[in-house]
Amino acid sequence: MGAVNLVLFGAPGVGKGTLAEMIKSEYGVPHISTGDMFRELVKEGTEVGRMLSKYMNEGKLVPDDIVIGVLRDNMKDDEKGFILDGFPRTRKQAEALQTILDGKRISLDAAINFEAPVEVLTERLSGRRQCRGCRAIYHIKNMPPKEPGICDICGGALYQRDDDRRDVVMVRLKVYEEETAELIDYYRRKDLLKSVDASNDPETTFKEVKEVINSQRNAQ
Ligand code: AMP
Repeated sequence: MGAVNLVLFGAPGVGKGTLAEMIKSEYGVPHISTGDMFRELVKEGTEVGRMLSKYMNEGKLVPDDIVIGVLRDNMKDDEKGFILDGFPRTRKQAEALQTILDGKRISLDAAINFEAPVEVLTERLSGRRQCRGCRAIYHIKNMPPKEPGICDICGGALYQRDDDRRDVVMVRLKVYEEETAELIDYYRRKDLLKSVDASNDPETTFKEVKEVINSQRNAQ
């Protein structure tokens, strides 16, 4: 059976990162998160990192040309497939992705659109904590670590992302509506859109995601 080539999208807090990790362990497919890549660059403290952190801390999108360049550099090894988490976020990025994939004669299996009500999203984002070391994601109520503030997997310190503060979350949700939501139509027209209810716990959502992936693979 061929590789799994997926795009995951949906509003902030919908659980893309958590689901991407679950898909990665089940199918052995690399998880590519532009947000994680940018956070690594910010940590390095370079000029590029400082420029990125300005956009991210305000909840705004990083300009398309920068994002597309970073993505292209990170999609060199894709024989095992890929799970794109948080890319594309604009129509221009979606078109650039299509061009990259066409050049490699690769096609997407599905663009999974995760859906959840706004109250669920804000509650998840305000309780979200991430490991500084291995980047594992927790939630102080719904998915707490065994010891508060410490990652179960690697023992790293957990922290709250600057852009998970309430004021920034509001901007991110608005940016999603204004710039990313149109991808629903874009992928529907390409017959790749699969909408999944992400308002429940990750295991329930993952069951639905597996059905999507398996039905796409069986159709190949
Ligand atoms: P995420 O971890 O996916 O929520 O991304 C965190 C932040 O990184 C976003 O709020 C944006 O500022 C930036 N970012 C990540 N991916 C993209 C993208 N595809 N296009 C523009 N900005 C992005």
